[in-house]
Parts: sequence; C-alpha cells; structure tokens
Amino acid sequence: MTAETALTVANLRKVFVTKHNAVVEAIAGVSLTIARGEVLAILGPSGCGKSSLLRVLAGLDEDYEGTIDWSLRQAPQDRLLGATVFQADSTMPWMTVEKNLRIGLSGLRLSPETIEQRVAENLSLVGLGDFRRAYPHELSGGMRQRVAIARALATHPLLLLMDEPLAALDAQTRIVMQQELTKIWQRTHSTVVYVTHDIAEAVTLADRVLVMTSRPGRIKAIRSVPFGRDRDVFAMRREAAFRELEADLWAMVRDA
Ligand code: ADP
Ligand code: MG
Repeated sequence: MTAETALTVANLRKVFVTKHNAVVEAIAGVSLTIARGEVLAILGPSGCGKSSLLRVLAGLDEDYEGTIDWSLRQAPQDRLLGATVFQADSTMPWMTVEKNLRIGLSGLRLSPETIEQRVAENLSLVGLGDFRRAYPHELSGGMRQRVAIARALATHPLLLLMDEPLAALDAQTRIVMQQELTKIWQRTHSTVVYVTHDIAEAVTLADRVLVMTSRPGRIKAIRSVPFGRDRDVFAMRREAAFRELEADLWAMVRDA
C-alpha cells in the first residue's frame, strides 16, 4: 500500500441473514485498491451487491468478513472525511433547501463567507439557485435528490460514496449533472466510488469502471477509461474509444 492509496479492500464477504433465517451471500471475495483522487464507477446487474458494498465502504455496515483499510483518516478543517449520497433522497423535510446544505457544513470550521460561498456555488451547480427558501415537499423528487447531491459536494469530502445518485433525474439533467460532477472532482480531487447501472454514465464519470458479477457480487473485470479529467461529456460520447468501451462493458454486464 502506498501513500497514494485511499482505500484497500481485501477478501470482502457480506452475508445477510433474513428474518426467516435464509442466508443471502451478497458479496464474495472482493479485493480492491482505490487510489487517492480516483473516480471508480461500479456497474453490475440489479441485486449483485453494489449498494451493500457501498454501505460497507461508508462504514454504515460493520457486519462483514474481510478487511477494509481506510487510508484517508484525517481531513483538513474545511473538508469532511466522507460523504454519501444514496438512491433515495435524504433531505430533511422540515428544513429549507439552504438549511439542508448549511447543516451539512456545520461540523466544519468555515467562515460565514465560505459557508455562503459553498451554499451558493453548490446550489447553482445542481441548478437550484432559485430554490434556497423552498422546502423539500415543494420540490420534485429529482430536485430533492439534487439537494442531497449539493449537500454532499459542499462538504468537499475526501471520500465521496454515491449510489445511483442521478437515477431519478431526467436524461437531459443527468448529462448536465455529469458534466458538473467531472468539473468539481477535477477541482476537489475527491476520491469517489460511484455506483450506477448506467454504462454510459460510468464511462463518462470514472477513471476506472469495475464490473461486478451477479450475486454474490465478485469482481468480474476492471477497465480504465481513456479520457482525461478535462473531458467534455457531450463530445466524448461521439468518440470511437467511448463507444468501444461502452460495448465492451455492456457485453460484460449482460453476461455477468
Ligand atoms: P444492488 O445494489 O446491486 O442492486 P444490493 O446490495 O441492494 O444489490 O443487494 C444484494 C443482495 O443482498 C440482494 O440479493 C438483496 O436482496 C440482498 N439484501 C440486501 N439487503 C438485505 C437485507 N437487509 N437483508 C437481507 N438481504 C438483503
Ligand atoms: Mg442498489
């Protein structure tokens, strides 16, 4: 393990025991090293253990076999160590959009000016600059999800774990958001683990794409994405290299 490592996973296995005592093996034999500042996308068929893996990596589920070494142990005072965005939006319904972002920043040592700047910047990044004083129930599901994304991004996390965060958005907003995410990660150098079932999205965002087998989820393959961080998400879709990788990944997910 080098100083450049963010996360090392060795022989991870996750088993669920259901109410009726059925044993469900969700993840088996996953070993993986994630570099600092890397964006790793995880693809795999529904039910293969992607969300289970992310919850373990987030430290939300400690009931697993194997070892996980979080090399990122200390964050500067103006950044969170880790932040998560899950599939279902997790806004606080009794707080305005703005308050939802501010509460996420409350653990950090930031000047009032910096807080205001992060709130404004991230709301505008997700296209919600005009909805500061709205409450979540006044927003669509996709907008609420974007509040959750802005809240996580505003903390400039060293490690960002996202589970299909754009799945609830319409196709056009999704591509706009993909462009914004690549831009912000280029600036913050966050280490990102990004679960998606959208192959084009994985190629668009990631440095590497990991394909999982069907349950129990194992690593089927890992592919490097041949595009720099300054990528234009519209232009890259027309490149032969993009389409080749997409086809390659599609074949692997289909046969997973
Ligand atoms: P994915 O996110 O790839 O769709 P999940 O990680 O949600 O897959 O689930 C992987 C497997 O583990 C599935 O078969 C699912 O039914 C099972 N599973 C997930 N959570 C639980 C739980 N709390 N109890 C029992 N089984 C679970
Ligand atoms: Mg899932």
